[in-house]
Amino acid sequence: MKKILKSIIILVIFITIVVIVGLIVSNTFFKLDIPNISSEKLDFGNIIKDEEVTDNYEIYTQKIESKDFINLAVNSYIDNLVEEFKNNNLSDKKIIFSKDKAVFKQIIDTYKVNDDLVSVKITSIFKKNYQKNYTTKIYAYNFSNKDEIVITLDDLFKNGYKNIIPDNSYDSFLLKYNDIELYTGIYKKNVSYNSLLEYNASKKINAQNFNITQEEYENLFSNQIDKNKKMVAITFDDGPHATNTYKILDILDANNAKATFFMLGSNVLKNNNVVKSVYDRGNEIGIHTWNHKELTKLSSEQIKNEVDSTSDAIFNITGERPTLVRPPYGSVNSTVKSVLSNYTIVLWNIDSLDWKSRDEKKIVPLVMNDIKDGDIILLHDIHSTTIPAVEKIVKQLKEQDYELVTVSDMLEAKGYDTASTKLFYSARQ
Ligand SMILES: [Zn+2]
Repeated sequence: MKKILKSIIILVIFITIVVIVGLIVSNTFFKLDIPNISSEKLDFGNIIKDEEVTDNYEIYTQKIESKDFINLAVNSYIDNLVEEFKNNNLSDKKIIFSKDKAVFKQIIDTYKVNDDLVSVKITSIFKKNYQKNYTTKIYAYNFSNKDEIVITLDDLFKNGYKNIIPDNSYDSFLLKYNDIELYTGIYKKNVSYNSLLEYNASKKINAQNFNITQEEYENLFSNQIDKNKKMVAITFDDGPHATNTYKILDILDANNAKATFFMLGSNVLKNNNVVKSVYDRGNEIGIHTWNHKELTKLSSEQIKNEVDSTSDAIFNITGERPTLVRPPYGSVNSTVKSVLSNYTIVLWNIDSLDWKSRDEKKIVPLVMNDIKDGDIILLHDIHSTTIPAVEKIVKQLKEQDYELVTVSDMLEAKGYDTASTKLFYSARQ
């Protein structure tokens, strides 16, 4: 009897130790600290620029100068791409027109995920000899500074996630604020933490499977759109602008707000970095044509050129094609609609007339007087007088408990099918 009791006690002590050790390991390992990924973009090394220009091609690369294990992964990936590019563009003939030269451009973005995890996104844009169109390819690495290794999704999540993110569905990934961004060649796909949540609920997988505390897990989803809340979409036309747009982005970020920027291709070309910031900080980018042409006065081919060229310019910077078009002056007819049938046309129902008054005392009441759930507000980020108005509008909307979201997010949250309905003034119901 005593013997049995003794072995039971020993067994209980043993199990307790195993459980405690297990808990300590699971809670301290690969702690995912998602908030601040998108806004806290830090460099953790030097970026070294390099270029090689010959008669046949032009190569502009960036390399990273950080810890050895980071340099090794990133720089050898880049070396391989450059080598492949050179092999693909060997030519005995000298190229006469520089526009026919092959071009390779490559940009490094670094992100600090938390105290341990850092990521590097490598965007390569290239075209072959005599080709006109560029191809974009994105690859990302995520590193654990502490362990000095390249980390995989297996390191971050326990079993289960592969039902949503199968091994063959991506070449690389980047951890972002609301989602995990997956890349395959030129294709990009976002998997929201929300979709992981739904999946977890149905499969009865709880937060412990993510190796993070319940509180951290809930924080992951606190930035998701609450469909039960009132919401509006602020839109900015005619930009981007070299200084004003940044000031507006700061106001949005400070208020946990997102907006949609309908950009002119001609301004995109002049302000690459602004476009990148608008995108990286989680806002939506739509097309406002190349030159602010009134589309109803153009031929089908001219309409297509205005929109496609702007789409190309945005795509070359963000790697993502816009799905929304706002025709200048809100001018739409049946030709415009049929040429743009692959896009969603977004007009507005709240006009701030900011371009006309240039006066916040007039802009703010025009927007706020009749604001309702589902509204789309028109403003212009090219006018500096719009900035103080935006600050007041955002503040007042927040006080009235509105969520400030992108047009696409609002249409989705309100249950609109953009595949069947192609033109929206608002999402009022
Ligand atoms: Zn406009």
